[in-house]
Amino acid sequence: MNRQEVLSKLCELCTTVSHNAFDYQHASDCFCDPNRYDRKSSFQFDETVLTFIQDAVHEKIKQHKRATMNQTQTDALANMYEIMTGLKTQVHQMTMQTEALQRNISVFERHMSHQKQNETCKDS
Ligand SMILES: [Zn+2]
Repeated sequence: MNRQEVLSKLCELCTTVSHNAFDYQHASDCFCDPNRYDRKSSFQFDETVLTFIQDAVHEKIKQHKRATMNQTQTDALANMYEIMTGLKTQVHQMTMQTEALQRNISVFERHMSHQKQNETCKDS
């Protein structure tokens, strides 16, 4: 496309937005016609028209990014899932070990308290 073709397409797009989205309530004067360049003073163009196009493009980019999540990202997610699953298993094992340790401590404490009682009995 040459410069003029690009300008014409963009100009057409602005007119389409102005017509279909705003029913020509916002100015969007032609900026592609070289014969109009000398009439700069009368040029009117409402930013609302451009903002509408920007929002639409951003929305489209978001959709596109969501749809084309690449293989690297999919692999990274799979790796993360694997790591998380491994961590979950480790946490489970640690919990089991902690519970076993607590049981051992209880047994030890009971044993100690019995021993203390025996010593008290011997002393008296
Ligand atoms: Zn134009």
